[in-house]
Amino acid sequence: MLATVDALLPLSLLEAVRDVDTPEGLLDAEFVDELRNKRFGLSDTVYTQIQRYTEAVRRNHRTGQDETIALARLIGRRPDAEAVLRAAGRFLAREAYMTVSPVTRGVLKVMPSMISRPLAFRKTRRIAQRYLNGTVRRVGQFVLLEVPRSVTLGVAPGSTGCAFYESSLREVLRLLVGVTGAVEHTRCEGRQEGSCEWRADWRGADRSHAG
Ligand SMILES: [Zn+2]
Repeated sequence: MLATVDALLPLSLLEAVRDVDTPEGLLDAEFVDELRNKRFGLSDTVYTQIQRYTEAVRRNHRTGQDETIALARLIGRRPDAEAVLRAAGRFLAREAYMTVSPVTRGVLKVMPSMISRPLAFRKTRRIAQRYLNGTVRRVGQFVLLEVPRSVTLGVAPGSTGCAFYESSLREVLRLLVGVTGAVEHTRCEGRQEGSCEWRADWRGADRSHAG
């Protein structure tokens, strides 16, 4: 069976490329046209693909994992690969967070951690499962994300590609729990350690005490 990923994953990669390649400030159309030739993120190809993946997300369709890996490789060749992958991780996290019902998001914001933490954990686990093909578990004060088949593994030197998942996890926890604690890449398939794993510290995550 062909391995698939949620269409939000490739969409997040392309949205990040487009965002990074978009010139800031107001520019006249002529200049943007000129840039379009040089900047991949502003190309018609990226635009068309973004439309395609946006439609797929809307219809809850999944995408081939190979196709997504090819996209990640393309990004991995850029000198700013890490920044783009981190931006993509944040994009995915924010979109995934928006799939959590407004009522639940409200509950997470106002309830003390005794109530909100288990709920936030379940949401984190669901988001990781659906959008990152990953599993999440708790060990003491830590939340562990394991991704057996990373789409960004080895796309850039060292463990640069892994920054995508690290950034996703950090942003999901920031949105759901309100923490921006340390996220450590504790195990990496790039070092033949079986799979990639990240460990986030979510101590002090009680929003009700956060000013
Ligand atoms: Zn890794």
